[in-house]
Amino acid sequence: MTALGLSAEDLEIQERARRFVDDELIPWEVHAEEHDGRIPEDERAKHQQLAKDLGLFAMNMPKDLGGGGFTMLQQVLVSEQIGRVTNALGWCVHTPPAWAPAVCTDEQLERWILPAVRGERHECYAITEEGAGSDVDAIESTARRDGDEYVLNGTKMHVTSYNTADWIFFQAKLAGGEHEGEHALFFVDKEAPGIRLLREPRYTHTYPDTHALVAFEDVRVPAGNLVGEEGDGMSFTHEWFRYERLMIAARCCGAMERLIEEATAFAKERVQFGRPIVEFQAIGHMLADSLTDLWASRLMTYELARGIDAGIDVKVQHAQCSIAKLYASEAAGRVADRAVQIFGGRGYMRENVAERFYRELRVDRIWEGTSEIQRNIVASQLAKRGVRDLV
Ligand SMILES: Cc1cc2nc3c(=O)[nH]c(=O)nc-3n(C[C@H](O)[C@H](O)[C@H](O)COP(=O)(O)OP(=O)(O)OC[C@H]3O[C@@H](n4cnc5c(N)ncnc54)[C@H](O)[C@@H]3O)c2cc1C
Repeated sequence: MTALGLSAEDLEIQERARRFVDDELIPWEVHAEEHDGRIPEDERAKHQQLAKDLGLFAMNMPKDLGGGGFTMLQQVLVSEQIGRVTNALGWCVHTPPAWAPAVCTDEQLERWILPAVRGERHECYAITEEGAGSDVDAIESTARRDGDEYVLNGTKMHVTSYNTADWIFFQAKLAGGEHEGEHALFFVDKEAPGIRLLREPRYTHTYPDTHALVAFEDVRVPAGNLVGEEGDGMSFTHEWFRYERLMIAARCCGAMERLIEEATAFAKERVQFGRPIVEFQAIGHMLADSLTDLWASRLMTYELARGIDAGIDVKVQHAQCSIAKLYASEAAGRVADRAVQIFGGRGYMRENVAERFYRELRVDRIWEGTSEIQRNIVASQLAKRGVRDLV
């Protein structure tokens, strides 16, 4: 065991991911920023192939399905490195839904999950609607059983990666039948008749992936496209939330590390009033507060990952994933703000890493549950379980 209790294997994985990010991805950031988030197609394909060759792609999936079979701590270490790069260039290290193999039929595995593990076909998630954001239970999309099929209706928004996806996880409430009003999740191929792209609005970050508004109008899917059982829909979404919240915390740690390194290097080199600005206490304190934010976030995130690997209670995991996401995303926002300030006018230029992170990190306080929702989850678990059960 070495620094932060990482084993030699953990450190090797961390270093492998770090080298990939430093040598292959970071050099493309400014190009991506200047080209609507896009890089040349052959480079993009190269990144995806390298992610596979390095064993980082689908690191969360079981080895017998072709995934990396990484521990949660190892996944956190990789995600942290991915968090060091802007413009979603790190999304070439894709993680398909790890909950799927346990609940999917053989046919579902063959058609959707295994191609996702191989990087041949990609998914996107259509859960949020105009009237249902934080309150997922308010969704109005419906799934009505009709013989051997379900008929799906609804309009979804913020569907991330719709432009690159081949299939969609569509969440709806059951209309009619024994489970009327309960949630259900479906595999839906994007080419299914009745799916209509309404809009792909522009967002704050400069990513190649869009966040689409999509209408589903009498989309018919075979009954075999239902994930798990009728009424199971929310449990998969909760499992996905937990995982993504932890990985957001990890990526935020990586972003903080990069920002602090870059801002410190700049502050040591930038001379004003005859001295490097790092010698001004105002600048040094911003860096010190940022390092403190990083360390607290990192310790929390690693400890939680270890807890998950050790099999802590799922309700405790749920609360701790909210705590980690809340803390790390808010901390990363503070660190990015200070980094912009340290860079001065340069920090307001899109070619500057602090400017890009300042925009990009903002969404980490919104997606996969806003900071307010994370606080609600933590407060409710605290009231039920008490302090000693939770931290
Ligand atoms: C870039 C981006 C990508 C996304 N990708 C996807 C995706 O791929 N698939 C998908 O399904 N969704 C996606 N989302 C949706 C995302 O999960 C929601 O935006 C998020 O859950 C918040 O919902 P909302 O935007 O409707 O805000 P609202 O729920 O309308 O909230 C508005 C404000 O009210 C606050 N609020 C709401 N309820 C409470 C409460 N009970 N207590 C205190 N405050 C409250 C919120 O915290 C927020 O500040 C994405 C969003 C963004 C911005």
